[in-house]
Amino acid sequence: CGIIGVLGKNEVAPLLVESLKRLEYRGYDSSGIATVNGGVLDRRRAVGKLVNLSDLLVHEPLAGKSGIGHTRWATHGAPTATNAHPHKAGPVAVVHNGIIENYQALRAELAEAGIAAQTQTDTETVALLTRMFMERGMDARTAAVETLGKLEGAFALLWLFDGEEDLMIAARKGSPLAIGYGDGEMFVGSDAIALAPMTDRLTYLEEGDYAFITRAGAEIFDAEGRHANRSEQRIELGQ
Ligand code: GLU
Repeated sequence: CGIIGVLGKNEVAPLLVESLKRLEYRGYDSSGIATVNGGVLDRRRAVGKLVNLSDLLVHEPLAGKSGIGHTRWATHGAPTATNAHPHKAGPVAVVHNGIIENYQALRAELAEAGIAAQTQTDTETVALLTRMFMERGMDARTAAVETLGKLEGAFALLWLFDGEEDLMIAARKGSPLAIGYGDGEMFVGSDAIALAPMTDRLTYLEEGDYAFITRAGAEIFDAEGRHANRSEQRIELGQ
């Protein structure tokens, strides 16, 4: 339902939670964040209000300057902590808005490869496919693009990877996603309001676009994999 991502200069967990708060107006049943710290990907998730996630983070803090976050409005799978995003499979974490329509076919394909799902969600198939492609030798970027090629439905996706503190991969098909530019920092949000405290310089991904994001900037590609120039906008939002 709500997506946020930060490649920052400071600890990102508080920033992720604050941004998710700004997305609360969209409604949600659970929430979670993942960060990479010292190359290690880890996550925290909680059912119910964001305060439950904040409380969990007090007891089990999550360090790191790179992270992604999500507020979930369950479509596939009950609103439980296990089904909350980010979904993780090995070195891959992913947050997702929307629906992967062909997730049952993808699950069957994964099962044939000996890969079992741990949750009831459509989203988990994205993490499982990406991990499978990485295990076959693809790097994170190639694996994410290969995964995208298998997905049907309407979605916005944001990936974060173990061992990659300077990479997020974003994709948009039928659900909005904006890239925000900072000074040596980069952001991703499902709407401008999520990003308002961090930056007013935004680029909206267009239908079918995906992007490799590092602190140096964003490389954006269209649905055919061609480099795409997407204009930057200044967003005026009253705080
Ligand atoms: N379909 C996904 C799920 O149920 C994402 C729902 C959302 O947009 O929050 O987990």
